[in-house]
Amino acid sequence: MSEVAEHQRAVQQALRTIAQSADPDVCFPALLRSVLSTTHASAATLWMFGDLALQYTTTMDDMLPEIAHIYPVVEAQQAPIDINDDLAQIMGWPNAIVGCVRLHGSLIGAVAFTTETDDSTDPEYFNALETILNMIAVYMRHLHSQARHEKLMRNQSEFIRIVSHDLRTPLTSIKGFASMLEAASVGDMNDKQLHFVEKILSGILQLTYLVDNMQDAGRYDPETGFYEMERTPVDLTEVAARIVENHLVPAEKQDLNLQTDIGDDIPIISADLTMFERAITNLVDNAIKYTPNGGQVVVGVHRLNDDLVISIKDNGLGIDPENQKTLFERGVRVVRKEHVRVKGSGLGLFIVRSVALRHGGDAWVESELGSGSSFFIRVPLDAENAIIN
Ligand code: ADP
Repeated sequence: MSEVAEHQRAVQQALRTIAQSADPDVCFPALLRSVLSTTHASAATLWMFGDLALQYTTTMDDMLPEIAHIYPVVEAQQAPIDINDDLAQIMGWPNAIVGCVRLHGSLIGAVAFTTETDDSTDPEYFNALETILNMIAVYMRHLHSQARHEKLMRNQSEFIRIVSHDLRTPLTSIKGFASMLEAASVGDMNDKQLHFVEKILSGILQLTYLVDNMQDAGRYDPETGFYEMERTPVDLTEVAARIVENHLVPAEKQDLNLQTDIGDDIPIISADLTMFERAITNLVDNAIKYTPNGGQVVVGVHRLNDDLVISIKDNGLGIDPENQKTLFERGVRVVRKEHVRVKGSGLGLFIVRSVALRHGGDAWVESELGSGSSFFIRVPLDAENAIIN
């Protein structure tokens, strides 16, 4: 194989590895192998500076210098690829060629190797090396963006956690005082004052609903949530019946027929009661919010082979197939003129799906425009959700 073909093959192999894996422990060694076969080096080392601080080497020597010692030596180098005697000394190599990896002018990494062959002035050799350095730069850039994204996500969920937690105390006390005013326990009010207090209480109710959903969406999130599930014996038929009972007044206000449809072979399961209360409440709230006056909502719990299936069916406006695909994602709301006055945060269905996933199940919707929607939560009756009796 010619030298050029050999370079190309090494580069192609490294590219294939990067395309197939996002793991630095797989990609960096592949990049180092391409450095070795392109430069005929006897040893090569790669550093990624900054927060990630990674180091990979092909030397057998496990007494590698600290990354912090390497950085200033590479930083002082003038040319992007050059012979670096100071680094050779640190590494204990007879010679060292160092290629710098820069992102927006800042040094983010370097690759160094030691070689006996003196072809470093050959333009072909130089081009091949540059291609590898560019590959390393693109890969390091990807790792940087990924780390930044993860950090932003962590900051965001931490911020939401603190805000939703800290809002709860003042909300509770405002609600307490407003309720005392409403109940006239500190003196009678005229009709206008009473009307204003009712407005305050309804605003507080909405805020409490939003804070609860913000908190649950953060902590139940199957990927980033820190909520520790508390499993107890749970009778989902009791939970469904209780939630329906609690929603009879708002349903009546909209002239809705709200019912349960419970199978008679429903086992007690080992599950997190609060999570299911929150998930079913969100679905029943939605069915009431989005079903026009005079409609019907049925809350079901049934056993289907090795699963329990909770269903909330309404005969409302339905959802078109395109919107059904994204409905369970965080913050997604469907904009439609019939619902302009309906308040929401787009977190309810995300919570529903998180609860289902955390119990090893799933959640989905079946709906047809004009005929209504059915939302489902499937809970497998497997070892984790083991049947208690
Ligand atoms: P929110 O209700 O706070 O907007 P959800 O995550 O609970 O957020 O619901 C997302 C969207 O799904 C809603 O904005 C609404 O458009 C749609 N949706 C949910 N339940 C129903 C339903 N029963 N009928 C019609 N649309 C619904």
